Amino acid sequence: MQIAIDGPAGAGKSSVAKEVARRLGLKYLDTGAMYRSITLLALRKGINPHNGAHLAEAAHRCNLEISYDDTTGNRIYLDGEDITAEIRSPEINKHVSVVSKSPELRKELVFLQKKVAEKSGGIVMEGRDIGTKVLEDADYKFFIFASLDERSRRRWLEMKEKRIELSFDEVKAEIAMRDRIDQEREASPLTVAPGAKVIDTTPYSLDEVVEKLINYIKENKNKTQGSLIKKVSDEVR
Ligand code: C5P
Repeated sequence: MQIAIDGPAGAGKSSVAKEVARRLGLKYLDTGAMYRSITLLALRKGINPHNGAHLAEAAHRCNLEISYDDTTGNRIYLDGEDITAEIRSPEINKHVSVVSKSPELRKELVFLQKKVAEKSGGIVMEGRDIGTKVLEDADYKFFIFASLDERSRRRWLEMKEKRIELSFDEVKAEIAMRDRIDQEREASPLTVAPGAKVIDTTPYSLDEVVEKLINYIKENKNKTQGSLIKKVSDEVR
């Protein structure tokens, strides 16, 4: 069972994907964390973020481990070091979309993402190109978004909780910049996958969005295999 969730920064993908995975007993993979990890590696090693071949080579050589826990979600280890918190810094936010433009790097990471999905026994994967490039045959595809102001507000609150002092306008400018680069790049731009269910999350809470996804899956269950149908109907009952 595979569920693909795509959308722009701050739309709530991670929280929604994690909760849907927990409720349906599936694994969860935050692919943005993989691009963030290679961005951190590139910054540390002084790799030019425009040099796709070097980025891909560094990604190939490093040991990126992603653990999954249904309460905390993914933890990311780079060559044995826990970098889960560090990859959420403003510095990484600033550079990650430039690094992610590289077709060579994307090839390397998409290969790993497909392998994770194959071995998972069922997964919810979220990112920018999951429905279009990574899980093209996913049982369910979603594209979730919210207004730029609402996404910026959510991200700004998250930053505040982590005691990262950024103004609302700084957060908004960073998200707008990433939106633009992610949508305009040549390799796997952020776009709605064919057949994806599009959800505007602006007026909804996290729980309401999760409910919408679960209900959609339930309503469309005749397209899926028996095991998930049972899980979803148990869940929704
Ligand atoms: O999802 P998150 O905001 O953590 O992603 C960080 C960045 O990684 C995105 O802005 C995008 O540039 C890149 N990304 C991507 N493809 C994915 C996931 C993330 O290009 N599947």
